Amino acid sequence: MCLLLAILPLPITALLMADDPLTLQREHMVREQVESRGIRNPDVLRVMRATPRHLFIPVTVRSLAYQDRPLPIGYGATISQPYIVALMTELLAPAKPHRVLEIGTGSGYQAAILGQLASQVYTIEIVPELARSAGETLRRLGYSNITVREGDGYKGWPEEAPFDRIILTAAPPEVPQALMAQLGRGGRLIAPIGTTWNQELIVIEKKSDGKIQRRSDGGVIFVPMKPSAK
Ligand code: SAH
Repeated sequence: MCLLLAILPLPITALLMADDPLTLQREHMVREQVESRGIRNPDVLRVMRATPRHLFIPVTVRSLAYQDRPLPIGYGATISQPYIVALMTELLAPAKPHRVLEIGTGSGYQAAILGQLASQVYTIEIVPELARSAGETLRRLGYSNITVREGDGYKGWPEEAPFDRIILTAAPPEVPQALMAQLGRGGRLIAPIGTTWNQELIVIEKKSDGKIQRRSDGGVIFVPMKPSAK
């Protein structure tokens, strides 16, 4: 490591050294908040360890990045608690050939996690400022297989459908019909469904014959999905 640091240009060296305590914080986050609650998928644990969560969070709350809680990211949105990101990722089970659609880009953190596990991620955010800043963050950090679009998640992304996996990180009262239609056969959709204070994490599978299976994975709290303008 010392030799490596000696031959690297100064800015990279500074970056590596500055990041060290955060690597430790991430390790602690994964062990104490994620593994201890039963998340076992090694790929999920690996990307949670590798992803710099603090860089997706406004500087004002950055010091809280690795705490066991959601955090405000402005415009009424929140970045989910690390455990919830891990749980939803494990339930979604994204893998290499998959094309994934996310509704509710927010900070871009969940998209960054998905992008490291799937082939392509398409993510839609209704707040223009969040869509722009998440897109910038993802580009800056080199997550090149993620496309951010400002728009209404209720409509999905018909031009890129069908999707192998769909994840909603804002809660609608019911699963939007357009999203069900854009889920491919053999695909899976994960969503918090319900009212502001009464939501369940729903897992939907569309079987190869087109049949739908639906189950609940327990109670959650997400920001409500904003209704369509029309
Ligand atoms: N996945 C995010 C967390 C998102 S919070 C992350 O990793 O940070 C939920 C997000 O959904 C908010 O940013 C909110 O603006 C967005 N949202 C709410 N209603 C929406 C809609 N109808 N279409 C698209 N995005 C929506």
